[in-house]
Formats: sequence, structure tokens, C-alpha cells
Amino acid sequence: MQAKVLAARRSLVLRVRFAPSPTGYLHIGGARTCLFNWLYARKHKGEFVLRIEDTDVARSKKEYLDEILESIKWLGMDWDNIYYQSQRFEIYHQQAQKLIEQGKAYKKEGAVFFKYEFQTIEIDDLIRGKITFNELPKSEEVIIKSDNSPTYNFSCVIDDALMKVNNIIRGEDHISNTPKQILMYKALGFQVPKFAHLPLILSPEGGRLSKRFGATSIREYKELGYLPEAIANYLMLLGWSPGEDKEIFTLDEAKEIFEITDVNKTGAVLSLEKLNWINSEYIRASSDERLVGLFEEHLKKDDFLPSWVDKEYMKRIVELFKERTVKLSDLFEKSRFCFYDDFAYDQDSKSILEKDLSSQVKTLATSFSSMEDFNKENIEDVFRSTVKDLGLKVRDLVHPVRIALTGRKNGPGLFETIEVLGKERVLKRLERLISYWEKGGVDA
Ligand code: GLU
Repeated sequence: MQAKVLAARRSLVLRVRFAPSPTGYLHIGGARTCLFNWLYARKHKGEFVLRIEDTDVARSKKEYLDEILESIKWLGMDWDNIYYQSQRFEIYHQQAQKLIEQGKAYKKEGAVFFKYEFQTIEIDDLIRGKITFNELPKSEEVIIKSDNSPTYNFSCVIDDALMKVNNIIRGEDHISNTPKQILMYKALGFQVPKFAHLPLILSPEGGRLSKRFGATSIREYKELGYLPEAIANYLMLLGWSPGEDKEIFTLDEAKEIFEITDVNKTGAVLSLEKLNWINSEYIRASSDERLVGLFEEHLKKDDFLPSWVDKEYMKRIVELFKERTVKLSDLFEKSRFCFYDDFAYDQDSKSILEKDLSSQVKTLATSFSSMEDFNKENIEDVFRSTVKDLGLKVRDLVHPVRIALTGRKNGPGLFETIEVLGKERVLKRLERLISYWEKGGVDA
């Protein structure tokens, strides 16, 4: 009795799966499919199965598999079960044998062919509604290849049936496989599951996603300095919206409200602008400690972290840039001057340095050097009063001093920047500007 109840319960549970082939890195489209499956499972207290479709031994690589699993976890998802098709060949052979014995399949030249008589097939897709298939081009289909490996359609159907997957959520590009798969479910005596085909992901110009689009794998986005929550949030919006204006959703929030039937059927257009906006929102919401950790990791990876740099200094840099950071790579790139003294002055900043202000900058340096408490308020007071004494305007010195300190004419607030760099470094860099002028405009 107990076992029967359990079995009945098991068949009632919502069960979905993500079935990547480890023949490449996890792509944005695959990640979105994974995410929608995961959200749907979590929303309905169901089960999320990961099935690795590694039947193509020559093209499947461990490196890709590792990266796919890594990326899924990095994005904040988990799975309840994982299966590898490469370990299940015997099961596919048994099922093929069953079809042969029933006269529904036959062997030819080492391969097994499934024969079918076509009848009109209709599905009620959870996203697209009714889809009718009126014809199929052939009346047979290879199910086991002559190298003994199963074809995708065959192993997919057997696994979905045996793993009790009752909702198939996958990309729209698989619609054309659906009628063949339904014929196989029926021939094998399995119950046909529900289907939900997700809209295509389109490039910003509206067409199919092309190579020109740039980064398409999750790992590339990671390397570019996007936060996992931002990517997950962005992926969610590729075809789904909860019907409010709100666009910032954590996985925890989304898994309470996600419904597969709310997914649109029209193509989802990628927008880097939107991803950037979402990412900057998550960066601003991140703790300084976390950003410091990610920042350190990055600098160490590139062998770029000078030994004198401590946590406190890193934290001040993060605070300086946080508000204007779209992705972590901007932070890495824009803050280089905080770690190195020997940067060159930007070419387009040099016109600002045409006027020799060496004696005025010397006066400023002297005022700075006698300061006790080198904080941004005091720095600003000293700066303004020195400028006034010199009969200059604030901007006459702001620009050259900024270039002296950062190499560039744009950047975060000057007084904050001066405080972060600290007196010693600031004086050294002002010295360098003075000698630039003394040498007649040659970089020190
Ligand atoms: N391995 C297939 C793919 O990556 C899975 C398709 C499916 O979800 O049925 O496209």
C-alpha cells in the first residue's frame, strides 16, 4: 500500500529537465532554458533533472561538461538528479529490441530504423497553444546508429519517459522534433508529456543570434564582469515578465511567481543595454566586501595585485567607483591608476596640459604636504583656498591635477580620489606633472 501511494505521488510531482549536450560552453539560450525549467520546478515544488546528452562521444568534452555544471551553479541553480546518456546505452538498445520484436522497427546495415504510419498530430503547447502537425517527410527514422549510439530523438524520448519527466520545456527550435518524438512515445507505450516551447532569442537587430553579437556563452559574461544574479535576472526577462513594471528579480522572488504559461511566444530580443542596467543595479546593491573579494580575485588572476595593497585600500577604491560601475571589468579598467604610478597621460588630455602651471601646482603640493588630516573635506578646503590665493578658478587646477593623478580627464570626484590615493602618492604624482612641464611637455 505504502509503495503504491508513493508511486502515485511520484507520478503527480511536476518533473522537468534540462538536457544539454556537452559539445560547447553553456550558451545564453541554453542557460535560459535551464532557468525556466528550474524556476518552474521550484515554483511547483517539483523536481529538476539534469540530463547530459553525451551520446556523441567524439564531440562531447569533459571541459564543456565541467563548464556547463559550473555555470549552472554560478547562476544560482541546483538540480535534484543528474543522468548521463553515455551510461545508458543498454537501456536504449533494450527499447530498440522491444520495437523490433513488435515489428515497429527493423535492423538494416547495422542501424535500427523505426517505422511509422503518419497520422495528424496535435499538441497543446503550454506557451504556443495548439500546434498541428499534418505531415512528416519520411516514414522511418534511425533510432540506433551503426556505431551503436542512439539518435537524439530516441534517447530523449526514452529518458524523458523513464525519468518521469512530465513537462518538456525547451527551445522553439525543437518543435519540428516533437511529432517524431510523440510517435515514439506511442510506439513504446509511454505516456506523452506536456510540451512548452520557448521563444527564440533574437539579436538586437531582430534576426537570429549571430556570431557578430559578441559574447554568447555564460562564461564570457562572467569574464566580462557581470554578476551571476544580474545574468539570471536578465535571462528571466527573455520571454517572461510577471506582468508588473518591476524588472529586478532575484531567483528567490521569481521562483515564487514564475509560471510557464506566462511566457510569451514572440521572440525575445537581446539587449546589452538592459543587461548593463541590471548589472549596475546589482553592483550598487552588493556589499563592498563582496566586490573587494571579486576585485582581488580578478587582479590576482592577472597577476596584477601589488603586495602593498591591503583590504582597506581596496575597499576605498570600490567605494570610489561603485556608483559609476556598470560591470566589474569597468572597475578593473578604470582603477588601474590606483595601483600603478607609471601610467602615461592620455593623449586627449594633453591639450589641457598645454599651459604650464608648474609654480601653481608646486604651491598646491606645499599646501597638501603640510596637512594633518588628509580627508576629503579638508582636501577640498585646502584646494579651494589655495586656488583662491593663486587668483585662479577651481577648474584651472582641477583638470591638470586630475590628469596628474589618474592620467585621464574624466573620473570620479577629484577630492575623493585624492583622499583614496593618499598624501604620499598624490605628492609624488604632482611632482611628476611639474617635471613634465619643466621638460617642456614630455612624459616623466
Ligand atoms: N540535447 C538537446 C539540445 O541541447 C536537448 C533538446 C531537448 O531539450 O529535447 O538541444
